[in-house]
Amino acid sequence: MEKILRGIMRYRSTTREQMVKEFQKVRDNPHPKAVFFTCMDSRMIPTRFTETHVGDMFVVRNAGNLIPHAHNFQDEYFTCEPAGLELGCVVNDIRHIVICGHSDCKAMNLLYQLRDPEFASLDNRRISPLRAWLYSHANSSLTTFLKWHEAGGKDPLIFSSETSLRKVVAYIDPENQFAIEDKLSQVNTLQQMANIASYGFLKKRLETHDLHIHALWFDIYTGDIYFFSRAAKRFLPVDEETVEKLLGEVQSDCKAMNLLYQLRDPEFASLDNRRISPLRAWLYSHANSSLTTFLKWHEAGGKDPLIFSSETSLRKVVAYIDPENQFAIEDKLSQVNTLQQMANIASYGFLKKRLETHDLHIHALWFDIYTGDIYFFSRAAKRFLPVDEETVEKLLGEVQRYYS
Ligand SMILES: [Zn+2]
Repeated sequence: MEKILRGIMRYRSTTREQMVKEFQKVRDNPHPKAVFFTCMDSRMIPTRFTETHVGDMFVVRNAGNLIPHAHNFQDEYFTCEPAGLELGCVVNDIRHIVICGHSDCKAMNLLYQLRDPEFASLDNRRISPLRAWLYSHANSSLTTFLKWHEAGGKDPLIFSSETSLRKVVAYIDPENQFAIEDKLSQVNTLQQMANIASYGFLKKRLETHDLHIHALWFDIYTGDIYFFSRAAKRFLPVDEETVEKLLGEVQSDCKAMNLLYQLRDPEFASLDNRRISPLRAWLYSHANSSLTTFLKWHEAGGKDPLIFSSETSLRKVVAYIDPENQFAIEDKLSQVNTLQQMANIASYGFLKKRLETHDLHIHALWFDIYTGDIYFFSRAAKRFLPVDEETVEKLLGEVQRYYS
């Protein structure tokens, strides 16, 4: 306590004045960027290793960086973690949630011991709130981890993230460089995504890509911080080599399509506004057909198939847009816009002959920036399908059959 009191005295004569100024600035213009969940471990100082300041983050800390699953609560009985989510994401409209685990986590070490039924017995949990806390809220992490580890620890794990349909594939420590409890800590960090998504009050925001969940992992021994890359399907160290790629991954969706969607407002799309914005003018002139098609479809409920023409006006493509309703509205528009370009390409006379004689083919791809998944428009399936182990043979068959 002496250390803390002396520290307060030093603060009064040094950083206090600067901090009061920052408090005032934040009070007038609050823009917090993230709700940050991490472990209460004294070595974890998240504002230091992220270089964030007054007003940047809401931080929630507990033993083991857990967010209890909603099924643990009835009526108005909640722990502080979901309340923190509401304060951050709903009251303060924060759009990013970060879960940050770490190496040599004492809570994770204890969680790993809980695999022993005697250690985890009811009697032992009754005298140890920490065991009870981990047993109640991190057992899902332990179960997932043990199953994976017993199967050899090589297979990818599949976690659900913002919604139960949005799956995250994760190879845990593929270079086998971490201790077993550290591997468990990484699994536990990723498991929290589904726990966050279990709360009904966040559902709409998560579904519409208004709210994003990210996972970090801090290696206490080297000081390296890892970011879970959905594209790379693993934790990657944030360093000179990876940072640009990781920034690309987190920078959101197609800004042009977001702007195109705003052009449905006649004032936003007015001639005066187009005159001062070449981007608005470009989109208004060349993507209005996509917007019109999209709005008509969306106003009719967004369920019916759309019909696009492709290589020739006679070759129709039937398309169900986002039938699982997993993408944001601007992303649906982006898919419609992608398919609309087929007819635009076919509008050029100098390509007519080649397109008619099947000498030239048009294909549509769509890239999901959040997951790194790439979708191919399957004319047979009448929708964008992710190109993956499950679909690739079918898609190759389709391409060979129709286009070779
Ligand atoms: Zn810890």
